[in-house]
Amino acid sequence: MNVVKDPMPRSLVPLPDESLPGFLLRLAHRLDLSPGQVARRTGLTRSPTALAPASSLLMLESSPLNVFARSARVTPAAADSLTLRPYTDRYPALTHALVRAGSTPRPRSVFPPWLLMAYSRYCPTCLAGDDTPIQRRHGGPWKREWRLAITFACLDHQVFLRNDCPRCRLPVFGGRGSRLTLLPAQHTPGLHPAQCRNPPAEPSPAGSGICGHRLDSSEPPEVSLSPVLAELQRRLMGLLTSEGQPERAFQRFADLQVAAALIQAGWPAAANLAPSEVQLALAAHNDSQAQPAPSSQQPLASSGRPVTTAWSTPPGDAVATAALLHTSEQLVTEDPFESRSALPELLRYLPTRQDPRWGTTWRMLAHDASPSFRHQVEKVYQLRLHFDWIRQGTPTQSITKTRSVHRLFAPLLTLKDGGFAPEHIPQFLPESWLAVFSDGFARRTPRSCLLRRMLPIHLIQAVSNLNLLEAAEFLGIPLSWSTGHRPRLNTRQPPFT
Ligand SMILES: [Zn+2]
Ligand SMILES: [Zn+2]
Repeated sequence: MNVVKDPMPRSLVPLPDESLPGFLLRLAHRLDLSPGQVARRTGLTRSPTALAPASSLLMLESSPLNVFARSARVTPAAADSLTLRPYTDRYPALTHALVRAGSTPRPRSVFPPWLLMAYSRYCPTCLAGDDTPIQRRHGGPWKREWRLAITFACLDHQVFLRNDCPRCRLPVFGGRGSRLTLLPAQHTPGLHPAQCRNPPAEPSPAGSGICGHRLDSSEPPEVSLSPVLAELQRRLMGLLTSEGQPERAFQRFADLQVAAALIQAGWPAAANLAPSEVQLALAAHNDSQAQPAPSSQQPLASSGRPVTTAWSTPPGDAVATAALLHTSEQLVTEDPFESRSALPELLRYLPTRQDPRWGTTWRMLAHDASPSFRHQVEKVYQLRLHFDWIRQGTPTQSITKTRSVHRLFAPLLTLKDGGFAPEHIPQFLPESWLAVFSDGFARRTPRSCLLRRMLPIHLIQAVSNLNLLEAAEFLGIPLSWSTGHRPRLNTRQPPFT
């Protein structure tokens, strides 16, 4: 239902990069109303007690957008720019947070973890505002990029962002409630836009129920932003905002997300790739992640908050995120077949892929990552992985639903390169060959049958770079005999030809 709202008597011009919750806070401060009252006046909520939903951080659909724009005296384009929607085609987490019915996107109720729906990072100096009269009065912008997990630093002020309030120690805008909303304490009037709206750490004598700390007076994290990490942040922001092809940015962010999950799952295998000054922050984060897997298969709780132990979830802390993204970028851009490459070593020690803490990592590798990174992972996979991983099939096999083993396990070398042809190695080892392995006497036992089936696979491996599955495939041996199920040595197996 389209509700026509009269324009409010006064409004504000949105600040560059300002987010919708930030705009609501400043407007409420200017009009001496609560943010909830402004949300009601601008059509974001339909009743005086309702709470503006978190999904409006992502986008406003056409009708609410026009109502909001008219009421807040801004153009529809300016209202749209308060949301994250303009980044949809470039940032995978945002793409996945929206469903497209036809060509019109709208928010889903599940939020991928690389969107910071439950809290915001912030730069205290940005919140303090510049020296213009309007920012002196109502503060600076709460920026929308601070809700994307790839944003870890303020390049204007050359500092890492904070994500918590120094007084109540909670993530800002996070509060303690389980329900995800656009802002905490929406119906509390009289707070400055830069004041913490979380519940207080200790019950306050006045019983206000609000922490109230001025976040624009917070200190940034103690670690200083190095030129290398500032440059990384600049590259990431460039991907997000440049005029270039959105597909390239989308794939690069997906690559980084997959690499970040690999690094977190395989921690500390790739730890030495992180810059030394931020290694501690990443180590602290990953140590806190080392908990048993959650029983749920869902990567997100019903409240929309990411499961905190998921490897696909970025650290809340901006310094640890910078270390993780820097490491991820190195993993994505390195040549996995160089002697110092970290990818093969990392993949070698990863936990089982059935672990729910992977979240959507493998789906993202199959569908969103760049072909080159997907190829790198699968190439390393083909050559170097341990049995548990081989048993599970290639990372993208079950996802692409292809049953074509040939496509996924295409041999990199042919045996002819080594002077062998397939017919030189029989599928089922003759007794005379088996005798070589058993002191010249080959008895027909269940164990010898198993050997006669498995040894040809190992012989192929001995003269090639093929892994177990590829060698089995090369010989035409059913995958089930060499993988998850132990070979069943009974008469129901088809005979070799
Ligand atoms: Zn700043
Ligand atoms: Zn606080």
